[in-house]
Amino acid sequence: MNVLVINCGSSSLKYQLINSESEAVLAKGLCERIGIDGVLTHQPAGKDKIKTETAMPNHTVAVELVIKSLTDPVNGVIASLSEIGAVGHRVVHGGESFAESVVIDDSVMKAIEDCNDLAPLHNPANLIGIRACQELMPNVPMVAVFDTAFHQTMPKKAYFYGLPHEYYEKYKVRRYGFHGTSHSYVSKRVAEILGKDYASLKTIVCHLGNGASISAVMNGKCVDTSMGLTPLEGLIMGTRSGDLDPAILNFIANKENLTLAQVTDVLNKKSGVLGLSGVSSDFRDLEAAAKEGNQWAIDALDTYYYRVAKYIGSYAAAMNGVDVIAFTAGVGENNPPGRETIVSYLGYLGADVVPEKNNCRGEEKVISSDQAKVTVMVVPTNEELAIARETVRLV
Ligand code: ADP
Repeated sequence: MNVLVINCGSSSLKYQLINSESEAVLAKGLCERIGIDGVLTHQPAGKDKIKTETAMPNHTVAVELVIKSLTDPVNGVIASLSEIGAVGHRVVHGGESFAESVVIDDSVMKAIEDCNDLAPLHNPANLIGIRACQELMPNVPMVAVFDTAFHQTMPKKAYFYGLPHEYYEKYKVRRYGFHGTSHSYVSKRVAEILGKDYASLKTIVCHLGNGASISAVMNGKCVDTSMGLTPLEGLIMGTRSGDLDPAILNFIANKENLTLAQVTDVLNKKSGVLGLSGVSSDFRDLEAAAKEGNQWAIDALDTYYYRVAKYIGSYAAAMNGVDVIAFTAGVGENNPPGRETIVSYLGYLGADVVPEKNNCRGEEKVISSDQAKVTVMVVPTNEELAIARETVRLV
């Protein structure tokens, strides 16, 4: 079966067409600037990217263009729409309603809508993407795969905040966690690669991308994760602050004459390594600036890696030990110096990194020594494949 995987944002839509038997990506692409003007980048497997500027007034038109590209006589990869057996949608927030992926029906749409409050930037866009696909493929089954679902196994002590409990009861204010599809995929892959039993392994997954989060997976279940009610908590990220003293919000609002919403915007978009370095949110730029002696870039990287190491320490405590530390996503997969710096804090756990092994990018690899007590690995994430697998499992 061919599964179309859709990751829909407010003005963008990423897609992959995956054959579920071979797990090969037949084509992938991206619609950008939806509702503004419109750019479509389509890439059939083994061929060059084709970039087209074309009007995309709304998401339905964008999905129409995706289908047109997939069925195009020259650059398409299927003969007709009937060759798409199912659609898997990435949905950011499932609240407490979804601990698993589900086949989408009207009641699921309503439940996703009920979570809009918790993810006002993401869930409405995800719903628009689903509706656009339903309109054009009314008879094709659709599945929602939630970023939050994998973390629903966390115990209360990990998801409660030290706040009046009415806020939980009235508004469901608690830790949810995100990147769940990636944490789930990587933690399972770790067990497969090492030939160990997933149900008896303690793994810490470091998903270090533009957004970054870390999770503790014990005996096949997530027991803690660094993102919270929203994806702002936890690690320092490309542009997001991660953890900070909550009193800073009001303090900065007063000093800079900003509303709390404006300060929150700064915390989301102008903070993290971008804000601290004043250089870039991209680690390639930061490493280059640090090499040239830019002290703010050096400090931003130091602070970022130190925060990751502190979280690993706390999750080793949460699980009373750790067997595997896995690095994934853009920075985790492609940045050997970063991995080496993080692991240099973890000698007390019995983790190490062998520089020759660590000199790798984007491949599945053990990078610790044979005698290390904790196995350190690189495991590239594949959220689209995980969504396709979930979709096939449910339809
Ligand atoms: P997201 O999916 O959250 O947008 P990614 O997982 O694609 O992010 O990660 C993007 C980040 O990965 C980039 O901003 C960059 O900092 C980092 N990155 C990608 N390639 C490299 C590389 N070769 N060296 C260092 N960092 C890299």
